[in-house]
Amino acid sequence: MRRAALGLRGRRGARVLGAARAPRSLHVAVVGGGVVGVSTADELLKRGCRVTLLEATQEVAGVSSATWGNAGTLWKSLRGTTPCEPATLWRTLKLLGRDPGHEKNVFINNSCLTDAAFYRWALALARCSNPSDYDWPTAHGDAQRYLLERAVALGAGGLRVAGGEVRSSKGAVLASDASDALGDSALYTQALAEDCKARGVHVWTNAPASLTANGLEVDGACVEADVIVLCAGAASTTLLPFYVPIHPLRGYSITARVTDAERAPEASFFVHPKHLYCTRLDEERVRFTCYGEFVPLRKTPPTAALETRLKRLIDYAVPDASEWSDFVDCEVWHGDRPLTPDGLPLVGKLAPGLYINAGHGFNGWRDAGITASFVAGLVAGGEDDAPAYVEAWAPGRFNL
Ligand SMILES: Cc1cc2nc3c(=O)[nH]c(=O)nc-3n(C[C@H](O)[C@H](O)[C@H](O)COP(=O)(O)OP(=O)(O)OC[C@H]3O[C@@H](n4cnc5c(N)ncnc54)[C@H](O)[C@@H]3O)c2cc1C
Repeated sequence: MRRAALGLRGRRGARVLGAARAPRSLHVAVVGGGVVGVSTADELLKRGCRVTLLEATQEVAGVSSATWGNAGTLWKSLRGTTPCEPATLWRTLKLLGRDPGHEKNVFINNSCLTDAAFYRWALALARCSNPSDYDWPTAHGDAQRYLLERAVALGAGGLRVAGGEVRSSKGAVLASDASDALGDSALYTQALAEDCKARGVHVWTNAPASLTANGLEVDGACVEADVIVLCAGAASTTLLPFYVPIHPLRGYSITARVTDAERAPEASFFVHPKHLYCTRLDEERVRFTCYGEFVPLRKTPPTAALETRLKRLIDYAVPDASEWSDFVDCEVWHGDRPLTPDGLPLVGKLAPGLYINAGHGFNGWRDAGITASFVAGLVAGGEDDAPAYVEAWAPGRFNL
């Protein structure tokens, strides 16, 4: 099925199942209730659209979304990983194999060997040019500012400015930006979804959407809308009848209990080269996050060895962690980073009436607000005052 056969041409005033209707406003269906989808619904609403948010599971920002258990950092001082940089690519390849010293953090799950989509993504990675001119200091600063301001307006707790310390494996602080921030993206997203609901967004949970020749469907029923914005994270590719290079890079986290609030680090820090993030979410919780495991597009269970290894890695990389935290009642979580070959999100128009806002990779919590604002502007029209760096997000860079 090609793009033109999707049947998504805009139909003003179309009806959506179960939603109240505001005459003559553009009706947009947002697919995916993670931080990106909910932020997109929020921005569309601000621009006067009528919005229906479709979430496949029983809750927005639920445990199966990447929004639920990520590292929680909203750093602007660190560039973050862009996979197509030669150094990162080389490290990825070098990291295959045994790892007695806990130095490796990127793995390719065996199931990828029979996943054609993984080879396709790897080919796109090999072809990808380095986005070295991306103005990341401005973009990261804008992204963080957006979220902090939105959280204040929302009254959502948990977001705070707390210097993002970068530490060596011996614990020495290598760099710190006092203005960095952190927070629990699931709490923020759930609060934002409640706010959107109160302002009129129809939040439809248990609604796994699919794109068919007839348009958007849930459980075989047609969902009519003028425009669809796809924000389904790592699952976005599976919904489209043509290929977009977004692949799941699974990560693991443990949210531990703080046992000594005075001694536990106040902010978040990064242990290099173990690639372990430690983030003090609040008084009671500290989260450890690590690993990038390329997994196939189809669902696979978490790698048991990586789950159990995470606790050992914490002991090894942060030897004093047991003095201020413990693993009582904690669960090991895994979630998929929706990764593009150049590490930048894919934001823009794919076909008439069909837009995408996905592929945020390592930084979707931080960048959700600014990409939502941009895509909502594209959908709703209006003034074009977008900063220059948004050009790097265009689907056209992958010939889409
Ligand atoms: C271990 C780890 C650590 C991370 N650390 C950070 C960090 O410190 N800072 C940062 O900025 N980012 C971080 N990230 C990245 C960040 O979590 C993601 O980029 C971000 O959550 C992506 O948000 P999303 O809304 O696109 O996807 P998700 O949060 O995965 O949400 C997608 C939603 O779409 C729904 N969905 C899927 N298919 C359908 C369908 N067919 N119909 C309806 N709904 C559907 C899913 O159920 C899900 O709720 C981390 C990620 C991981 C995995």
